[in-house]
Amino acid sequence: MVGGPHASACYREVVFSADYVVVGEGERTLPALLYHIDTGEGTVPAGVATRDGYHPQQFTVLLDAFPPFSVVKGYVEISRGCSQACGYCQTHQMFGHLMRHRSIDTIVEWSHRYRDIRFVSPNAFAYGSNGRIPRWEKVEQLLKSLKGNIFFGTFPSEVRPEFITKGVLELVTTYAMNTHLHFGAQSGSDEVLRALRRGHTVRDVEIAVDRCREHGLVPVADFIIGLPMESEEDEKKTMHLIQEITRNGRVRVHHFLPLPGTPLARSVPHPLLPSTTRLLGRLALNGTLTGSWKGWDTLL
Ligand code: SF4
Repeated sequence: MVGGPHASACYREVVFSADYVVVGEGERTLPALLYHIDTGEGTVPAGVATRDGYHPQQFTVLLDAFPPFSVVKGYVEISRGCSQACGYCQTHQMFGHLMRHRSIDTIVEWSHRYRDIRFVSPNAFAYGSNGRIPRWEKVEQLLKSLKGNIFFGTFPSEVRPEFITKGVLELVTTYAMNTHLHFGAQSGSDEVLRALRRGHTVRDVEIAVDRCREHGLVPVADFIIGLPMESEEDEKKTMHLIQEITRNGRVRVHHFLPLPGTPLARSVPHPLLPSTTRLLGRLALNGTLTGSWKGWDTLL
């Protein structure tokens, strides 16, 4: 019996390695499947693929109805789904484009278990919103309601650069403990950002970095390198932006990995320029850059 993003995206192949593949969200499907196996009653539930076929689920999970897996992972999942559609990402494929949120009361209830409270969200600053137009009053209400050491806008509840406003940074510095803010930059080229359908520009990233510094927060930006649509010129622009950010902040770099179920699933990562690997190594040595930039081909 298997599930998760990879199995969900490739269930037609995975059914030949497993009896049951739970496709998509498992909170309701897995108990129904266990009941079916245990009692032999009814048919294989919707949302489970077998070699005999597959009927998709007709529902999405209401977050408040299930625990946020806090015992296992130690984080409270506050939102699920993403209204963005970045070409390399499985989140919107797996959880849909409609952003759903756990209620403040339930988040508070689960957060009582922790001294340090961390969250899971595709974009923590989008809490309570449709993922495109922020609702700062909801973010403030959430932060005000929590007691303990709050870490907001750090892994695994990173944020998007265009959501980093002066107002929300004031909320973070007022209510949260974090001294860093993690956000996705992904590329230093506007052409690449457009091709990825990121929905923000390089300028948004630069503004976000400046605002973090103005509010005494260390910006930590994520980048993907070796993207299939990236020209040498694009790669140089990305390295230039990385160098700029590491003057006053931190960068996390990952080599592009084509994930199943995404628009870029069949794309081939391109090899890095020698100047890129040299610079990444130098920045890693001085402690301003972390990550993994070995191409996936080196793992085969
Ligand atoms: S990368 Fe982030 S913003 Fe883009 S689709 Fe995935 S979760 Fe949403």
